[in-house]
Amino acid sequence: MRYFLCSLFCAGLTLTLPLRAAEPVSVLALQPDWSDLAPFQKTIARAEFLRLLDSVYAPDGAWKECIEVGPDAARIHQPGELGTDFLLQFAPSAAAARPIPRYWSAPGERQTPAGQPLAGYTLALDPGHLGGRWARMEERWFKIGHADPMMEGEIVWRVAQHLDERLTALGARVVLVRQQGTPVTSQRPRSLRRVARTELEREGVSPIRNSYDGPNDPQKMASVTWQSELLFYRVSEIRARAHRVNEVLRPDLTICLHCNAEEWGDPAQPQLVDKNHLHLLVNGNYHPGELALADTRHEMLLKLLGRSARVELPLSERVAASLARATGLPPYEYHSGKARATGSPYVCTRNLLANRLYLCPVVYCEPYVMNSQVVFDRVQLGDYEGTRAIDGVERKSLYREYADAVAEGVAAYFAGKSK
Ligand SMILES: [Zn+2]
Repeated sequence: MRYFLCSLFCAGLTLTLPLRAAEPVSVLALQPDWSDLAPFQKTIARAEFLRLLDSVYAPDGAWKECIEVGPDAARIHQPGELGTDFLLQFAPSAAAARPIPRYWSAPGERQTPAGQPLAGYTLALDPGHLGGRWARMEERWFKIGHADPMMEGEIVWRVAQHLDERLTALGARVVLVRQQGTPVTSQRPRSLRRVARTELEREGVSPIRNSYDGPNDPQKMASVTWQSELLFYRVSEIRARAHRVNEVLRPDLTICLHCNAEEWGDPAQPQLVDKNHLHLLVNGNYHPGELALADTRHEMLLKLLGRSARVELPLSERVAASLARATGLPPYEYHSGKARATGSPYVCTRNLLANRLYLCPVVYCEPYVMNSQVVFDRVQLGDYEGTRAIDGVERKSLYREYADAVAEGVAAYFAGKSK
């Protein structure tokens, strides 16, 4: 980690300091363009800036090595050959803050007719992963005997189809971030091999292997093939989706659809578990190591200054309540420091690439454990209209239960905000 602490502090826009080297960035990220923050001058008061850092984005002082908060401005340590720090000037008060520049409208900002709480809003649906021929590579695939394979990318694709219908009926213009089984990125593992090798070298992996022997190979992570696949489906794909969301679709809200999983071991002989749970994730809880990366620091500030958390937190709570009611699932409890609890037991803050890079508000859903016995059985039942008895309880198909609950939570939140 390299930090560039500066002793000077003034209220000007930038300070020229001696030449210094570019700071490290995440894999496949470019050095950020810090002038992106210029439109946010005087759009936030000091108290709210500190509150958002401490309560949502970088709790426990995680921000203190890269941001200095003065009385009138925050100095954001900025890398690059220009050798300048970015000074973000605070608004003198919340009431005197300038309008926030952003492409999305918050719930309540548009007039909506009765019964159409989403009219005039564009909602993007982002079914997680790829599914289909990519499902094994992305390790979101398992199969038991002659049963249909379980593929997260396909389950959430079907949920997205139902959700599209529900949200459209509520007045929304619905757009999909990906199509079925088709990557948004134009990169493929083959084109990422060189970067994969460089990453392995940077991490000090030795020996570096060329390829690996299937999903159960314990040394797969040390291979260029496995790493290039990971870069393709987890990094390049999400970056391409973020570009599509922010530059092409520009929605008022993005709903990321996922299912959770517990460790299942061999995908050809997976372990089914009893655990089944639900949680939603809101961008936040950055750690000092993440903020030492220039792109991540820059992206956290874009999220914070865009004030998407004002929508993300209460809306996620609303959707979580609706999903909890429909599914009966208990909240998931993290046993690592990656996520942090919020006011709702079902909503945590966590820094994921998708909820960080999508600048509009994001509702990121993680209901159901894919390899729980009950979810496996329900997916094998397929999609159906009405209800069927499952363990003595009449239940909708898992796909419709998921979609209906998300639509209900979103509609209730927007309706509560409408004028
Ligand atoms: Zn997922």
